[in-house]
Amino acid sequence: MKKHNPAKEIQDLQFFGEFGGVNPSISDSATYTFLKAKTMLDTFEGNADGCYLYSRHTSPSNHYLSLALAKMENTEAANVAGSGMGAITPVILQLAHAGDHIVSSRTIYGGSYAFLKNWTPKFNIETSFVDITDLEKVEAAIKPNTKMIYAETLSNPLLELADVAELSKIAKKHGIKLVIDNTFSPLIFSPANLGADVVIHSLTKFINGTNDTVGGVICSTNQFINDLKNVNDGSSMLLGPVMDSLRSAQILKNLRTLPIRMIQHSKNTQYLAERLEKDGLKVKYPGLASYPQKDLYDKMMNSEFGYGGMITMDLKTGEMATKFMETLQEKNVGYLAVSLGFYKTLFNAPGKGTSSEVSAEEQAKMGLSEGLIRMSIGLDFDIEATYKKMKESLEEIGFFKPELQN
Ligand code: PLP
Repeated sequence: MKKHNPAKEIQDLQFFGEFGGVNPSISDSATYTFLKAKTMLDTFEGNADGCYLYSRHTSPSNHYLSLALAKMENTEAANVAGSGMGAITPVILQLAHAGDHIVSSRTIYGGSYAFLKNWTPKFNIETSFVDITDLEKVEAAIKPNTKMIYAETLSNPLLELADVAELSKIAKKHGIKLVIDNTFSPLIFSPANLGADVVIHSLTKFINGTNDTVGGVICSTNQFINDLKNVNDGSSMLLGPVMDSLRSAQILKNLRTLPIRMIQHSKNTQYLAERLEKDGLKVKYPGLASYPQKDLYDKMMNSEFGYGGMITMDLKTGEMATKFMETLQEKNVGYLAVSLGFYKTLFNAPGKGTSSEVSAEEQAKMGLSEGLIRMSIGLDFDIEATYKKMKESLEEIGFFKPELQN
């Protein structure tokens, strides 16, 4: 079988625009005409390939981006959405209905957690949250009415790795779907190759990379994507989280540079992780020997992209974390902001930020301490200078004072 190389798939994309444009033309229309009424009817019924009906269903621009992302994830098809949550929520609602049950990783993006914890129960869909690294617990949580296992390849914010191949075996054994959010690790992992049934991204992050729009994508089989777009009962079609064509054209152009950006994010983050760990900071990064799931990560990864741009650091107290982030921002190391995958470094303390939907008790159980900072390292050209500023900041806030070192 031909080895799937996601970067090569991106490189080999060849889309031309009208008039020989080197980028595909942007479809500036919400609706589309038909020469024959019969073709319109066929399109409604999903039987007219290559015809466009209405841009909430799909548009040529969204089609190009979807095609590109399906190639990247090695799935038959994909469907882009207006945000990451606009991809996640229709998938969940397509697969689980009233009376059904979901097994989810307990360490997922706060919005996905809140949707499963607070929103879906209103429609009688219950979720059991488990430690996704404990495969026995995952399997034990499955009930006769369970419809899916939901996880992130690399979890937000704790950087726990889901063993997609083993989770897929469990899902198949019980006849349920494995849904994987791969937002933190595009190109590094190809979850569909490892057995995931549905792969989701928030395009807002690394894939777009310029923090100027939100976006999402669902990658899966032709059947599942067509079901989502079905005009009668498809969750994407009927809930309507559609991406605008102007935005999808832009994201497609940014996707072209994703491989080189990921390599640079990884190179910079590896450098900082090694130096800061040596300085005595408690750092979690998959490229370090101290990363608890290093062997699994190495086995699962597409190694040419490195270990990614996400890193966590434990500053021990909430107060220290705040001082550190404010000092870093003053020195223009990056921005105190949620989100990730940007060309500038971004940082926040997830306990009170992106994971604030998770209760303090749950946070303690999963090991999310108040002093934990999540960083998305940028594309800095001079990473040594960045490191020096980080070290200076730690010294300035008194982090190395003996009373803080136990
Ligand atoms: N999945 C992960 C892992 C995320 O970090 C986020 C947002 O931070 C989302 C999904 C949601 O994406 P969006 O903000 O584009 O809706």
